[in-house]
Amino acid sequence: MFTQDTINRLKSAETPFYYYDLQLLDDTLKTCRTAADQYGYHVHYALKANFNPKVLQAIQSVGFGADCVSGNEVKASIQYGFSKDKVVFAGVGKTDREINAALDLDIFCFNVESVQELLVINDLAGAKGKKANVAIRINPNVDAHTHHFITTGLEENKFGVNVWQLPDVAFTLRNCANLNLIGIHFHIGSQITDLDAFKNLCTRVNELSDWFAEQGFNIKVLNVGGGLGVNYHSPDEDNIANFAAYFKVFNDFLQVKAGQEVHFELGRALVAQCASLIASVLYVKNGKKKNFLVLDAGMTELIRPMLYQAYHQIENLSQQLITTHNSQFTNYDVVGPICESTDCFRKDVELPESVRGDLIAIRTAGAYGEVMASHYNLRDQVQSVYSE
Ligand SMILES: *Cc1c(COP(=O)(O)O)cnc(C)c1O
Repeated sequence: MFTQDTINRLKSAETPFYYYDLQLLDDTLKTCRTAADQYGYHVHYALKANFNPKVLQAIQSVGFGADCVSGNEVKASIQYGFSKDKVVFAGVGKTDREINAALDLDIFCFNVESVQELLVINDLAGAKGKKANVAIRINPNVDAHTHHFITTGLEENKFGVNVWQLPDVAFTLRNCANLNLIGIHFHIGSQITDLDAFKNLCTRVNELSDWFAEQGFNIKVLNVGGGLGVNYHSPDEDNIANFAAYFKVFNDFLQVKAGQEVHFELGRALVAQCASLIASVLYVKNGKKKNFLVLDAGMTELIRPMLYQAYHQIENLSQQLITTHNSQFTNYDVVGPICESTDCFRKDVELPESVRGDLIAIRTAGAYGEVMASHYNLRDQVQSVYSE
């Protein structure tokens, strides 16, 4: 819910922009931190969800580590004050340049996704006279019951090594003098709301942790990834993800051996609810079959609906305070200005009768929103506005 004061403030800024509720971000981070601390769990923030400087500062200040998927994210995380011994570097296509940069920065761990990558890191570390900490990203073949566009833990996905390749991984590790295996890593998908998927993950992690122990490896870190979902349908009633229930599943089902640490890599659940994309209605096009609200924001500012068929709640802030029994509701296809037919935030959105100049909020846009903005159609860089 936006207060009238907030709406008045938003009216004075030029649309489109992302509006960040920094208080909600802070509350979310503290809730997560408290829930994780209860079990001594380590949390790394997945920078790719949102690398807005103010967001990074807030997250860094609660003491989380960083989960990076590019060399530039590794550099940014350290620039923003994340401790280098809490930085992990994942990704299926790390370049030599990125690996070298991360070796120079002495990060905590590389999450390695193939046997060939192990050999490359071993060579590059050797050339620097260094020993690299690695964790093997294993594809556990667990169905996350999430949208197939964002599932990552099945054998058909490009990520990680498959279980049948593990003997080759063990053989390679024994022959790589510049690698130090510290952990096993998993990430089964994103926007996971069915906690049973994590329960199934725990069962697989337990089996694989035993397998590595039998092979004589000392696995210090069980990194179970991220993926906790948020409520896109009720951003006000359910504005902080249930971190306590999430961590409890791992506490209940993960077998942690003496000396082992459990690490998480949360992105979306930490940042999704703290931002909305704010746009203005440019034109109202009423047709025989369809009514369109044409906004001044489109897929260049928020591509999730077009890329993953993602749902976002859409609200007309200007009509919010007009008493509902007076206002008439109309179904609109809410679209952007970009020259693509897919540039539609959602079809048949029931909204109060809207007019040119109305302020529209597209909610739960803090994760995979601003970071995926593009300059397609030579659009301006989307701006940000922050709560005080
Ligand atoms: C994207 C990603 C995450 C974060 O996923 P969320 O669904 O945003 O929590 C964690 N780990 C890895 C390896 C990732 O690629």
